[in-house]
Amino acid sequence: MSTSQSATNAVASSNHIHSTTLPTNNATNSTSKQNASQSPYPHILEPLDLGFTTLKNRIVMGSMHTGLEDRFYNYGKLAAYFAERAKGGVAMMITGGISPNREGWLLPAGGTMNTKADVLNHRRVTQAVHKHDSKIIMQILHSGRYGYHPFSVSSSAIKSPITPFKPRKMSIKNIEQTVKDYARCATLAKEAGYDGVEIMGSEGYLLNQFLSRHVNQRTDEYGGDIYARMKFPLNVVRAVREAVGSDFIIIFRLSMLDLVQDGNVMDEVITIAKALEEAGVNIINTGIGWHEARVPTIVTSVPRAAFVDFTHEVKKHVNIAVMASNRINMPDTAEQIVADGQADLIQMARPFLADPYWVNKAKEGKTDRINTCIACNQACLDHTFQHKRSTCLVNPQACYETELVYKKAKVAKKVAVVGGGVAGMSAATVAAKRGHDVTLFEAKDRLGGQFNYAKVIPGKEEFFETIRYFTNELNHQGVTVKLDTKVDKAMLEEGKFDHIIIATGVVPRSLVGKLEGADLPQVISYADLLSGQKSVGDSVAVIGAGGIGFDVSEYLTAHHTQPMDEIDPDLLKDLSYRPTPQSIESWREEWGVTLDSDYQTDGGLVKREKITPMRQVYLMQRSAGRLGAGLNKTSGWVHRAAVKSHGVIQLSGVQYEKITDEGIWVTNPQGHSQLLRVDSVVVCAGQESVNELMPNVGDAPNAQYHLIGGAKLAAELDAKRAIRDGAEVAATI
Ligand code: NAP
Ligand code: SF4
Repeated sequence: MSTSQSATNAVASSNHIHSTTLPTNNATNSTSKQNASQSPYPHILEPLDLGFTTLKNRIVMGSMHTGLEDRFYNYGKLAAYFAERAKGGVAMMITGGISPNREGWLLPAGGTMNTKADVLNHRRVTQAVHKHDSKIIMQILHSGRYGYHPFSVSSSAIKSPITPFKPRKMSIKNIEQTVKDYARCATLAKEAGYDGVEIMGSEGYLLNQFLSRHVNQRTDEYGGDIYARMKFPLNVVRAVREAVGSDFIIIFRLSMLDLVQDGNVMDEVITIAKALEEAGVNIINTGIGWHEARVPTIVTSVPRAAFVDFTHEVKKHVNIAVMASNRINMPDTAEQIVADGQADLIQMARPFLADPYWVNKAKEGKTDRINTCIACNQACLDHTFQHKRSTCLVNPQACYETELVYKKAKVAKKVAVVGGGVAGMSAATVAAKRGHDVTLFEAKDRLGGQFNYAKVIPGKEEFFETIRYFTNELNHQGVTVKLDTKVDKAMLEEGKFDHIIIATGVVPRSLVGKLEGADLPQVISYADLLSGQKSVGDSVAVIGAGGIGFDVSEYLTAHHTQPMDEIDPDLLKDLSYRPTPQSIESWREEWGVTLDSDYQTDGGLVKREKITPMRQVYLMQRSAGRLGAGLNKTSGWVHRAAVKSHGVIQLSGVQYEKITDEGIWVTNPQGHSQLLRVDSVVVCAGQESVNELMPNVGDAPNAQYHLIGGAKLAAELDAKRAIRDGAEVAATI
């Protein structure tokens, strides 16, 4: 028997999930079990014995490219980032993708592990994590044709639709050398102190490009039926196992649903999964959809746990641990999946950017204090695609652990925060956490500001969670919250505050006085509509096609919208209230994803269900060109596709003439006057700052004033900047 075979066999017999009943003489384990049974989430907190090592619970932080892993001088920051999450109780974490060679780079000079020098940088990360009793896995990612550089390679020389470089077809020699590169990379990872490696085989990266006919059109031994297509990935796994021995975790991230033309069917996925088990993999992780798929897989409108049945289907056919992923962000969802036996482990990536202490909070039953990832992608994936460092919209400390530090204040100051939107709530919680005496004033009867409009958009229900989180934090940090309190300058001066933070936000831009007929009763603002104060008829014109124009168009046309004028306003103030989100079935029908977990259609795609919109909507802008061009990089296409499928008529390059009782008159790009017969007009024409509480030039205020969020800059009204502004100001006073 060759060394390779014996190593593989040793693992094949030891990598099956062992009984989760742990020896009673193991103090740590018995404490873990005790904690698990006391917690409301016993299943996800139960340890998992992999035979040669034990995971202390079932929660794994998935791989996220943060941008810190690409440069050696950022490894101190990367170590701090992982250490924070290790402290937060997660069992195991997977690094961002590290390439085994130059061809596999995602970006030019991207993170690579192929020399001894690389080991030293990575050791800083592994040592920082191990201090806090957590495990860390290095992901080996060869980007294949997704590489953003001229050295990219693939199974066949077919360019991807999301990169400008056409890859070179790998020769057999090239394939064999790459197998060795993976093995060397894994050996170096072990030397660097990692507990294992994850071999990235999904989301359309190199190994997925071999596994699926979507790209693999080879006619040699590496192309053809599934047995030939999986030969290279299996050789990689075998070579890695032989190189690292049996006491090292190997995870394979397998595409359970390709969501592309000529993608695999479930029988093929199961065949691969069984072969991976045989080849020595310990854990099969879930990958859903190639990056080029035209079906959203992680944005906020994807229902929670929308793809878990595919993971479950694979789990039925293997004896090793299987990990579920995608749109799992809260303990109840995770617990249900493990309790139902659909998966053994839960992977979440973005939720740990949002809250490093997710696991400890779940363990202590403090679910209400979890800062929930709202799946907006705005500060994480959007940043990755803009080649910027990732962070998190709801947690600006993410990836800035050593830079944005909330130190205890030397002297407790009296602080007023005016405005209870996300900027004000962020400032107030951080200032109070640092020991200041904070009062938050809000003119309305509820906190949340603009998030109160976002949360009622169908598919944006997660925004409720941010309001819930910050409201609870204000309470927990001892902030005095004064609702229904409109303050004026005199009140602020009389309050004898040391610092006054103005976070009074924005008001929707009104067109009264700028457009004839804008004062008619059928012309309303998005705020009137989304607060339930006013309603619309069966045909609507939306003026302004920014993010809010798109949101309003979805609100007006989607079938699962709960119209605001029909909801009891008091219910919306209840922190536990959530509107019913779109069901997984209805969402899959809308996007053309199979309902059958044992699917036989290529890539799991089926014909999209035709939608009859709830009403006729015209979405308009004055600028020429495509509507929604300025929407966020990784989620904008989803909004554009949604309004298109909802039958929204999109008009660009129009001039608004007047609004009358017949509808709205516009001049089309050809210069012709045109009447759009609509019952109502919703104005989504941006916002204007509200900042009149700031001192004027010549005033001599007693307090130090700070202006943050939309009150500072309405043009780029942006929750990411608002929350960061609040935190940064409060971190320095
Ligand atoms: P926005 O993105 O600035 O869009 C405002 C729209 O109003 C533009 O289409 C603009 O187009 C039009 N407009 C501006 N002034 C006008 C005027 N005087 N008369 C008529 N039309 C006018 O603002 P928003 O939609 O309110 O969104 C605000 C911010 O919220 C965004 O920047 C984004 O950060 C965030 N947001 C994002 C999303 C998302 O990505 N899904 C959703 C909601 C909010 P023309 O000038 O071409 O007519
Ligand atoms: Fe989640 Fe948005 Fe934060 Fe990304 S930026 S981790 S999607 S909340």
